[in-house]
Amino acid sequence: MARRRWLLLVTVACLGLGHAAAAHAPTASGPDPLTGPRSRLSDQKDWLGLRPLPAQTEILVLAGHADSQGIAGAGTGGEAVDLHGAAPMQAGIRDELYWNLLTAQAIVNLGQQRGLAMRLYVPPLRTIADGDDPRTNWSVGRAHAAAGGYALEIHYDAYGLDGVGSGLIPPLHRQPSRIDESLAQAFGAYPLLYREGLGAPRRGIAILEIGKLEGALEAALRDPRRSQLTLNAVALRVVEALERGLERPQNQPMPTPALAITPTPVSPTPAGRRSGPPARRR
Ligand SMILES: [Zn+2]
Repeated sequence: MARRRWLLLVTVACLGLGHAAAAHAPTASGPDPLTGPRSRLSDQKDWLGLRPLPAQTEILVLAGHADSQGIAGAGTGGEAVDLHGAAPMQAGIRDELYWNLLTAQAIVNLGQQRGLAMRLYVPPLRTIADGDDPRTNWSVGRAHAAAGGYALEIHYDAYGLDGVGSGLIPPLHRQPSRIDESLAQAFGAYPLLYREGLGAPRRGIAILEIGKLEGALEAALRDPRRSQLTLNAVALRVVEALERGLERPQNQPMPTPALAITPTPVSPTPAGRRSGPPARRR
């Protein structure tokens, strides 16, 4: 009996591998065909995103490290540049920021096409030393989240042992939302207080690690024939997760608040690390 059930599962899994499979998160564990390894901390997920968000919730998308080039927290240079001697995608900025910018733009373009209330914010300067300057991602994202919107900062994780893998680091300003949950289901998850609360989550900004900037994902991004297709596939996965997080079926009961984890209070003057997960300068 058990063997027959297992065979059935294998059959279903094989039938599910269609042409569009790469745009959707796999149901099995193991590296994702599009984004590579998922967060190795996913099994330490200690939160549930149950707080509903109205369908018209405004979603602000930010490109990680867009205001911290040339200073601490500039983002990863990527495996191709740092280990294999490839030229940076654009002089003067880390490859992670290059891809963060293009990915964030693709997400907003697709989301707007599909009717979501979305916008992109890009700081006017690539280096703003004071993280609480009103023009930083942190400041704009914090104000957006405080006003009830959803703020999402896009990142690619470090390659090799420094990287953790794709996944969502949820914001800490309120209880996790259904968008947090749906993004975690699509990409993987980090614990609520990952590294004791990074600067962005402490300000109410979710960090989404698309994947480690290495291997097949980085090769697909850097290949001119596949770059836009790859960005589109990533954007589709993000936007579909956002849509699922905003959906509220009419007959579904409201979640029980007791099930949600209450985030540890954060100080009124957020501190924390400037960047996401390890992005060491080499
Ligand atoms: Zn980053």
